[in-house]
Amino acid sequence: MTHVFDQTPDAPSLLDPADWERFRGQAHRLLDLCVDRLMANREHPWRPLDAADREALKLGAATRGVGVEVLVEELSRRILPFATGNTHPRFFGWVHGSGLAEGLLSEMVAATMNSNCGGRDHGAVYVEREVIDWCRRCFGFPEGASGILVSGTSQATVIALACARLQALGAASRKEGIQALPRLTAYAMTGVHNATLKALELLGLGSSALRTIPGSGGGGMDLERLARAVEEDRQAGLLPFCVIGTAGSVDLGLFDPLHALADFCQRERIWFHVDGAFGAWARLAEAPWCELVQGIERADSLALDFHKWMFVQYDCGVVLLRDERTHRAAFAARPAYLAQQSQGLGSGEPWYCDYGIDLSRGFRALKVWSALRAHGSEAFGQAITRNCRLAERMAQRVAETPGLRLAAGVRLNICCFSAAPESWELARQDELNMRIAQQLQLSGDGVFSTTKIAGGVVLRAAIVNHRTNEADIDGVIEAVSRMRITLGA
Ligand SMILES: *Cc1c(COP(=O)(O)O)cnc(C)c1O
Repeated sequence: MTHVFDQTPDAPSLLDPADWERFRGQAHRLLDLCVDRLMANREHPWRPLDAADREALKLGAATRGVGVEVLVEELSRRILPFATGNTHPRFFGWVHGSGLAEGLLSEMVAATMNSNCGGRDHGAVYVEREVIDWCRRCFGFPEGASGILVSGTSQATVIALACARLQALGAASRKEGIQALPRLTAYAMTGVHNATLKALELLGLGSSALRTIPGSGGGGMDLERLARAVEEDRQAGLLPFCVIGTAGSVDLGLFDPLHALADFCQRERIWFHVDGAFGAWARLAEAPWCELVQGIERADSLALDFHKWMFVQYDCGVVLLRDERTHRAAFAARPAYLAQQSQGLGSGEPWYCDYGIDLSRGFRALKVWSALRAHGSEAFGQAITRNCRLAERMAQRVAETPGLRLAAGVRLNICCFSAAPESWELARQDELNMRIAQQLQLSGDGVFSTTKIAGGVVLRAAIVNHRTNEADIDGVIEAVSRMRITLGA
């Protein structure tokens, strides 16, 4: 078949390279610099930008372009060096994923394709279906469950709780809003991630709709207190609509008793959502860690991240819904310009715009698909298991090091400890732990974040880093020990 447009056009495109071979040369050069940088991850901890570095990023009015040579120079010198630092093997702060070399490849292909994954019938949509289906099987959700890739667990939580809200209030609430309806209430462990509060705020329910239920001995929600809270709210004329189970709390790695929560929600006819942002991936690890997530397969909805403990590049999370009908009822909407066609690009089903907030969407699925193709889920399970063992090793090193003490038992991949003398006043202890974290970040010796346990600031490591080895753990604890002495402890 000959196309009308087969001839080379006389006038060059305004925004494509005028000389593709020159562009190719620059692209190869930049790719080499990126691979060099990834290979040398150990030499590149976080570093702060000084005034000149920040000045160099100024766009001003940006009326004239600089061309590809200068751009590549700037990308390599002014952008690439100033990463968050989570590609470094001694980065343990917050819960930051470490990123895979294959991400470089899949992002290159995704950028070339520039697919819009809101819907229609093209390759990227099939890749996303595969990724969601893999997730569905991985987490034991039934066939017919649905899902969508999103920016992260924050957005996944909004989608999940919107479905729960619709289930409680009926489909008419999409049109009528929630003003005239009974007040909804939700329940989660003390220590639930702020993403849940934000979702409740965005959905118009207000963060005061959340009841936080203190832990029992094991750390997860105390079921008797949960039952009492639900009962009291019902008696007050409120409508309990959702229990949010946590699989891996962000601070301490705590798990709710998921089976017991599923039983409770079934009995009480309340939606059961699980926040499994990073902890859900313990499902791929060896025993005993994989046992922590038992029962996750019974959730009505599950939110989790690929960019944390699946090591995939930012950003990528997923929400799974047990019942596709509810998922669609909460989000499906096709005005005339999006009407389904029987053939051609406008055909195909599902269209992901019917399953979430965005109409236009990028090809997030490719980096996940590539990661699974390249390594297989068993390799990820091994990396996750290793992270849990390294957290145990860190706890051992803390216990053996004079002046350091554990602030909580190690759960999963999280180790929290204090480097401050117990005899000091609490405020002074807090100050020291904070300064140690800051100074180690600045020196490039390692990145811890801090958190509060029992009212005191402690150092916290969440190990979701596939580059970390035993020597990194030993080395970073030695660095803490030296720094506490430098700072006068
Ligand atoms: C990180 C995290 C979130 C938020 O996820 P994002 O991907 O950052 O939006 C929610 N819950 C838990 C437990 C988390 O660790």
